[in-house]
Amino acid sequence: MLKEVLELAGDRRSEMRNEMIYIAWGGSLVIGPMVVLYLLISSLLSPDTDYDYLLLLSGILAIFYVLTAALGHIFYVRSLRLAQTISYEMRMGLAEKLLRLPMSYFSDKRSGEIFTTLDDYCTLFFIKIMNSTRMIREAVTAMVISAFFLALDWRMALLAFMTFPAIYLTFRRVDRIMTDLTHEGEEATRTFNSTVVEFIQGMPVIKVFNLGKDRMTRFRKAAEDFRDHHVKMIVDTTGPSLQFLLFLSLDIVIVLPFGYYLYSIGEVQSNTLIFFIVTVPLLSDALYHFLYGYIENHGKMAEVLRKVRELRDSPEPTAPSEMIDVNGNDIVFQDVSFSYGDKETLSHIDLVIPAGKVTALVGPSGAGKTTLTSLIARFWDASSGEIRIGGINIREMNMDTLMSKLSFVFQDVIVFDDTVMENIRIGRPGASDEEVIEAARAARCEEFVSTMMLGYQTMLGERGSRLSEGQKQRLSIARAILKNAPILIMDEATVFVDPNNEYEIQEAINELTEGKTVIVIAHRLSVIAKADQIVVIQQGRVVERGTHDELIGNNGQYGKFWDMQTRTRQWHI
Ligand code: ADP
Repeated sequence: MLKEVLELAGDRRSEMRNEMIYIAWGGSLVIGPMVVLYLLISSLLSPDTDYDYLLLLSGILAIFYVLTAALGHIFYVRSLRLAQTISYEMRMGLAEKLLRLPMSYFSDKRSGEIFTTLDDYCTLFFIKIMNSTRMIREAVTAMVISAFFLALDWRMALLAFMTFPAIYLTFRRVDRIMTDLTHEGEEATRTFNSTVVEFIQGMPVIKVFNLGKDRMTRFRKAAEDFRDHHVKMIVDTTGPSLQFLLFLSLDIVIVLPFGYYLYSIGEVQSNTLIFFIVTVPLLSDALYHFLYGYIENHGKMAEVLRKVRELRDSPEPTAPSEMIDVNGNDIVFQDVSFSYGDKETLSHIDLVIPAGKVTALVGPSGAGKTTLTSLIARFWDASSGEIRIGGINIREMNMDTLMSKLSFVFQDVIVFDDTVMENIRIGRPGASDEEVIEAARAARCEEFVSTMMLGYQTMLGERGSRLSEGQKQRLSIARAILKNAPILIMDEATVFVDPNNEYEIQEAINELTEGKTVIVIAHRLSVIAKADQIVVIQQGRVVERGTHDELIGNNGQYGKFWDMQTRTRQWHI
């Protein structure tokens, strides 16, 4: 188990090892009070007890106790600091790993598991490190006491060790049960956490579709499993744990009568007998703390290690580390196919998206338009085929290079609980305040920012609760303007969610798209008709491609859609 702690300690391994050595030294200090105690008992039992000598021994004993307490405190604070640092670094390392993982990793079920790993397990790891340091101290204490016992009188020592085999066997049993149950219990905890995350995230849908009853049934089932496993853990381990405790406390019951027998036949002296009677409970106590610490740590540590390893070793999309220059901004899909699971979502896409032009993706809902744009950003990797930007395969591009090419005005706008200024600066960290304000002005954010009491320094609240949907969209456009990437991917449906802001948003978008390679998942006829290229997607395939006039002339799918939509004035979404 110490090996596991050291493995998870990562770069802090050698610091952790040193800390363990210090703690072991601290534990070995118990030899001092043991020797002094023996001398004290011997002196008390001798016919010519010297009072000054007794005082001296008591003083030395007091010094040892003070020293042990002081060192114990110093080591505790040091270990605490190190354990918190390691746990913090583990959390940060895992969070950075998450950033590198593909979107396919983040299923709904996983959100709860990731939350458990980053929150519970990193905290648990900290607690386990602290437990391990205590176990080391107790183990060394038990060893030092045992060695002193042997040195003093091997027969009395053997009496004190007589319960060890039974203690060991019951300890193994409790440990085995605990490890198995911990594994099951952790599964139940993770499922419960996933259900909670799903429950909270899905609250709007649950309310709108009145799914409360159904979701509560699921929630209840997860909560019941959680409860049952934890009760089972206590019930199943109580019996063996009691046996284990019983054997630990039997020591004195053996030492006392058999020790007295050895004394009565003159084999053992009275001071040795009394010393053993006084100190055997110390040995049991150290053993108890060591073994119980082990049992408590072992199962959970295995779970922590398993889950952390699983996350740490999850395959990342391969990408070179070097930034490269990509001059062109045209995008080429060459025979690209993709599936989320078994079902093929995109089939053999061949498509050229010319630089500096607007390409509108149109087609029925679920056709694969969003998926197609996600592949450009490598949120997912194509199952086959190749996507090139400026003639270079995106898989051969460093992720920073790829991301520097792209901006998104897309789906949900994530607003952080920070100021307006910082929320826009996300578009280009390092941009000056003036640049941020300029982008905000271009995105028509100024109108609403100027009405805020603290202007750009106004905090936006959790999830941007102080902004309307239209304002959030303009904020996201400001980010994209600030980033000024040459390729812009945009979902028009989410951009025009707020009809009150339509004019401002249109102006903001005009600023943003100027001279860019634009891919827009388009819904409004005015946008579609003006696009330089319209790509019609149906059931994961490109079925038509051309300008509005060309496609109308073809009288194919687009012509039919157009007829239908001019009647309803909206593309079906
Ligand atoms: P569109 O943007 O044209 O409406 P999408 O690209 O969003 O279509 O979806 C295409 C298909 O892929 C749909 O059947 C959808 O249910 C499925 N899909 C989309 N996202 C995921 C996902 N994360 N996991 C599994 N299936 C998905």
